[in-house]
Amino acid sequence: MISTEIKTEGVAEKERIERRQRRRRTRDRECHCCGRTTPFSWTCRCGFAICQECMNENVWGLSCNGITWHCPECGQQNGFGNQ
Ligand SMILES: [Zn+2]
Ligand SMILES: [Zn+2]
Repeated sequence: MISTEIKTEGVAEKERIERRQRRRRTRDRECHCCGRTTPFSWTCRCGFAICQECMNENVWGLSCNGITWHCPECGQQNGFGNQ
């Protein structure tokens, strides 16, 4: 008899990670664009946060040189890779 049991370990693990990400940690900030809490996000001193994914999508509007990005909330310049 062929077992129809499908390995769902990968899916279960993904759900576990998502659930974990939903839990608030003090360092995690909710992305102001998509509302998700990601392990890494670009943050501004004013409290604005944007996740890497949204930054990738909006980098053309937030950065003009690829070195700094300006906060849409307060207009402050923030550097890439200088967190
Ligand atoms: Zn986002
Ligand atoms: Zn700001």
